[in-house]
Amino acid sequence: MKEVQNVTILGSTGSIGVSTLDVIQRHPERYRVFALSANSRLDELHRQVRAHRPRYAVMRDPDQAEQLRNRLRQEGSDTEVLSGVEGLIDVAAHSQVHQVMAAIVGAAGLLPTLAAVEAGKRVLLANKESLVMSGELFMAAVRANGAELLPIDSEHNAIFQCMPPAFEQGLAAVGVQRILLTGSGGPFRCLPLDQFAQVTPEQACAHPNWSMGRKISVDSATMMNKGLEFIEACWLFGALSEQVEVVVHPQSVIHSMVQYVDGTVLAQMGNPDMRTPIAHGLGWPRRLASGVKPLDLVQVAQLDFAAPDTNRFPCLRLAREAMVAGQTAPVLLNAANEEAVAAFLAGQVAFTAIPRIIEGVLERCSLVPARDIDTILKVDAEARRVAQACLHDISR
Ligand code: NAD
Ligand code: MG
Repeated sequence: MKEVQNVTILGSTGSIGVSTLDVIQRHPERYRVFALSANSRLDELHRQVRAHRPRYAVMRDPDQAEQLRNRLRQEGSDTEVLSGVEGLIDVAAHSQVHQVMAAIVGAAGLLPTLAAVEAGKRVLLANKESLVMSGELFMAAVRANGAELLPIDSEHNAIFQCMPPAFEQGLAAVGVQRILLTGSGGPFRCLPLDQFAQVTPEQACAHPNWSMGRKISVDSATMMNKGLEFIEACWLFGALSEQVEVVVHPQSVIHSMVQYVDGTVLAQMGNPDMRTPIAHGLGWPRRLASGVKPLDLVQVAQLDFAAPDTNRFPCLRLAREAMVAGQTAPVLLNAANEEAVAAFLAGQVAFTAIPRIIEGVLERCSLVPARDIDTILKVDAEARRVAQACLHDISR
């Protein structure tokens, strides 16, 4: 890397955003924070702007953006404040930006992430939902615009590290037989099925190994996170659904594996800390210090593996079926999941309603080819309306 890299962080106030700032701060000679963004946490974004002095800050809501602008003006800051999706797109595609960390949660990340791809940036992809929604279009846009896509999801980052460089020619061409996508199994890995209905949002958000935002924490508890990651892996690595196998690995030390035709299995290991994949994405192909504690295998002592139980975790089955069905099925799955998880976190429906709502949406909505982004956004909106109707029926 010849020059200091300008980095935009979409979703800087979230769990991934904060970890990204932590890694960047360790390498001021290599990276400069160019833009930061937040949804609603104005004070937090204000603090981040003071600490990192970016060229731009984006607050989703225009009134909150105006508040931040006034505060910064009084302090004599020269950070410019933008708002809305337009603001996010501007800082993602800006000509002076080298790298974009896509760390907004959910479908809200789709347009800004795609804008970074279309501007040919190095895109550090944490926002798996954008790829799940638009897989084929997204990957075509990466190729057409010469973007560099680096997976930040720990599993996909691990798979990337275990893949040969030429994997884009096709898995068969490079001797890859299967991807082994590992997952901790979440906080309810051993919970009996008859207790799932009583699960509270606090229990669902208390992940045994990872500290994450609330939506992805619930996704881990239902194992929809692994379902979304299954779809993500198929698109990122050009894998057929039967080439991706989910393996439950409770210690979260192996972050995923790649199996080759000669019997070799390569695994990437490390402590469960997102600063490792973030540093890998930022620095690739160089290695950067990330602040992550070295792995102590003697202390870990044991690595366990098991098959996932789709009877207790139907979301995993629903995600696989959506990927196989193709067209807009993953859009429906993702939108219904976001609505169901929000309703669960708001105390409106039981934990067990989440897969029922998703299944309801997949049954009621018809599939169309995911031809363009407009179609995808329309299907997303329609799926959310149907999900609301389903959750209304369930909670009555
Ligand atoms: P989080 O909830 O902690 O943070 C989300 C960020 O997105 C915040 O900065 C928030 O301000 C912003 N945001 C939310 N809604 C927005 C909207 N409508 N418009 C603009 N900005 C909005 O979430 P997180 O745990 O950091 O996860 C972020 C993404 O990374 C998710 O897609 C998640 O699946 C993925 N991911 C997270 C982890 C993890 O360990 N946290 C691991 C792998 C992948
Ligand atoms: Mg993951």
